Amino acid sequence: MKPIPFNKPFIIGRELSLIADAVAQGHLSGDGAYTRLCHRWLEDKLGCHKALLTHSCTGALEMAAILCDLQPGDEVIMPSYTFVSTANAFVLRGAVPVFVDIRQDTLNIDENLIEAAITPRTKVIVPVHYAGVPCEMDRIMAIAAKHGLLVVEDAAQALLSTYNGKALGSIGHFGCLSFHETKNIISGEGGALLVNDARHTRRAEIIREKGTNRSQFFRGEVDKYTWVDIGSSYLPGELVSAFLYAQLERADDIIAKRRSICTAYAVQLADLQHGGHLRLPTFDGDSNGHMFYILLDSLATRGKLIAHLKALGILPVFHYVPLHSSPAGKKYGRTGSAMRQTDDLSERLLRLPLYYEMSEADIARVCSAIHGFFGK
Ligand SMILES: *Cc1c(COP(=O)(O)O)cnc(C)c1O
Repeated sequence: MKPIPFNKPFIIGRELSLIADAVAQGHLSGDGAYTRLCHRWLEDKLGCHKALLTHSCTGALEMAAILCDLQPGDEVIMPSYTFVSTANAFVLRGAVPVFVDIRQDTLNIDENLIEAAITPRTKVIVPVHYAGVPCEMDRIMAIAAKHGLLVVEDAAQALLSTYNGKALGSIGHFGCLSFHETKNIISGEGGALLVNDARHTRRAEIIREKGTNRSQFFRGEVDKYTWVDIGSSYLPGELVSAFLYAQLERADDIIAKRRSICTAYAVQLADLQHGGHLRLPTFDGDSNGHMFYILLDSLATRGKLIAHLKALGILPVFHYVPLHSSPAGKKYGRTGSAMRQTDDLSERLLRLPLYYEMSEADIARVCSAIHGFFGK
């Protein structure tokens, strides 16, 4: 039988013709017409002050870390259950990640544990919206305001999810998006920095353009451009932006399809949750259908289920090794709370195949294979 992969990159609309058009326009480096179209789309749709495409979410997080103006030894509060880039971006600035445990229901940072982890060195909080499900942003923004901290949302998985009607990534001081091929809306590698506080916009543009004021030069605001700050090359080329714009044009269809796949999984696996065999994720109409995971009763069951599904040509995958237990996490970071939920849930979580071109028959095959495993 045809294998069902975990993820499958896809072309949904005008990707190839827009790439051809970008070539015909004769501008292949960054910040051409397609990059500007993507910026405007993101600003209109998400309501952020300024959107800047980057070559990856990793690059956007690095830019945000520079903009936070950290001194060596400053501390940044974040979950341990996240991708390495969340922490690396700040470690590159000499800061110390302080890992806080996650909530048992959403697997997002437990907002009730944040204040106890704050010290005089704390400068930033980084909520990660796992699976596109929102963190408790009202509470996190209130804690940040009370202690004078910046908030960088790692919204890599959260494009077009909302929290109280606001787009994720547009609530903190900065938001970071990913268009990696494993995310909902893709350009191979790709990302964006959302700047939500106008005071940071000019410096963000400079950091993204190798520390030069080239963006101001192209707008005619200065008569020559020069090196004015630290920075690097964070912008994507136009071929990537053209591909991305074609996906953004169809964003609503992509999100609707992914949500419908999540709903189908939830319906077809509900009896296994009732029977106590597994736990299904809590997701609601506000999230973007980024991921569908199941929580098994143990690491051993997860291993056996993976083997069972692989034998049937289905490729589920587990997720993060918690950063606090990784070699670099131990070297560069520390824990700011007990890690009970992180240690427990990370061992039991399994992500099911989910991609735009997945058919109803594919979903049914995955679900019946899981039923088969539990003898149903
Ligand atoms: C995917 C992801 C990233 C990194 O995104 P890239 O675009 O691959 O750099 C960062 N954080 C989280 C939570 C992610 O899921």
